[in-house]
Amino acid sequence: MNQAINIKDLTEFEAKPFKVYTHRHLDKIAVLERLTEEQRFETKVVSSILPFRVNDYVIDELIDWDKVPNDPIFQLTFPQKEMLAPEAYDRVADLMRNDAPKEELQAAIDDIRAELNPHPAGQMDLNVPRLDNEPLPGMQHKYRETVLFFPSQGQVCHTYCSFCFRWAQFIGDAELKFAAKEASKLHEYLKAHTEVTDLLITGGDPMVMKTKNLQQYLEPLMEPEFDHIQTIRIGTKALTFWPYRFVNDADSKELLELLEALVQKGKHVALMGHYNHWKEMDTPIAREAIRLVRATGTQIRSQGPLLDHINNDADDWARMWKEQVKLGIIPYYMFVERDTGAKRYFEVPLARAWDVYRNAMQSVSGLGRTARGPSMSADPGKVEIQGVTEIQGEKVFVLRFIQGRNPEWVQRPFFAKYDEEATWLNHLKPAFGEEKFFFEDEFEAMKQQAQG
Ligand SMILES: *Cc1c(COP(=O)(O)O)cnc(C)c1O
Repeated sequence: MNQAINIKDLTEFEAKPFKVYTHRHLDKIAVLERLTEEQRFETKVVSSILPFRVNDYVIDELIDWDKVPNDPIFQLTFPQKEMLAPEAYDRVADLMRNDAPKEELQAAIDDIRAELNPHPAGQMDLNVPRLDNEPLPGMQHKYRETVLFFPSQGQVCHTYCSFCFRWAQFIGDAELKFAAKEASKLHEYLKAHTEVTDLLITGGDPMVMKTKNLQQYLEPLMEPEFDHIQTIRIGTKALTFWPYRFVNDADSKELLELLEALVQKGKHVALMGHYNHWKEMDTPIAREAIRLVRATGTQIRSQGPLLDHINNDADDWARMWKEQVKLGIIPYYMFVERDTGAKRYFEVPLARAWDVYRNAMQSVSGLGRTARGPSMSADPGKVEIQGVTEIQGEKVFVLRFIQGRNPEWVQRPFFAKYDEEATWLNHLKPAFGEEKFFFEDEFEAMKQQAQG
């Protein structure tokens, strides 16, 4: 018998009641009095369109209010005027100033939301798996070995990120939700698909769930019929936005015990910690959460996008990765911000993204160089920008698939014409006068087939 790791004596940290504010409670956030009236109004306008939710740990301990509005955590959580196109902003601002009828305001909000590409990268149709020919809306199975599961109780977050690519599911449009109702469907699907080695539980944030819900999904996976599920990943921002979840919430201890039990059964358990800035790891409670999770044998891997106004700086990335290595977190991905929501505000040209990545890499040790990127989670797969170079007089991007709808695409280098302004894969053209990228015909055929 393995000796269970001692995760008792949980803590000298005081528990904190979870208190959260949404766009309806903006007036209740006392510290916003430090903003000008105009700034407060802007916050109100933008948060009527894009999701807004923030808790008082973020407000009290992560945001440096002396540095607002430039503070990165403020930018990460509070809406900014420039996130909307000027016409869109003015339209809603005018309606609000003039106390327009509710329906008129809502119609404007709906229009603007629809223009913000709420379903990037074919998430809705192309990846939905089937069981007995019935679609399973709470799952995505895009890459052979990995199933994504969206538990219905985990489809909010402790705080919303202003750049979130899943923003559409937080604005109350039921059609946009991926959430699964039942654990049994997940288990049946996994039993029938022995090619799947990785289960990735995601949201929202699965860590908003009570431990007893997580147990329902995860405990059965310890049975022999799930031996092929070797890795359980849980995507979360709770290490940043609510570290108390792992330390001294009412069911923190049971959560740590669940993680530990999975590890003891031989599963690789990984929290995919969503991190955007070294400041997120700077509080004692955040460090305590990391320590306790790691004491269960669970790995923590970090991922997050490169974002203008938040972390568009190689030194910030290097400092973040170094800090993570020090705390035992494994850097995993640097993403390119997706083509949705407030992209206009956060986007960074691919050429710049590569520069930031390379400069950050050059200043960390080998253990910090495990982060791949900058990576675009695009329709055909995850495409990494490997570099910019010149081949026979033509300046090109060197690209490769890190993940592909067809596993055979993975690791195959391909080339796009250099384009200083491109911010996403669909802006790129093949280099050397070729008409199409090597995967395009096959990908088109896959789409045709999926539409039946
Ligand atoms: C990133 C991602 C995965 C996981 O890919 P890894 O390369 O194993 O990290 C799985 N499914 C989807 C849809 C993804 O975007």
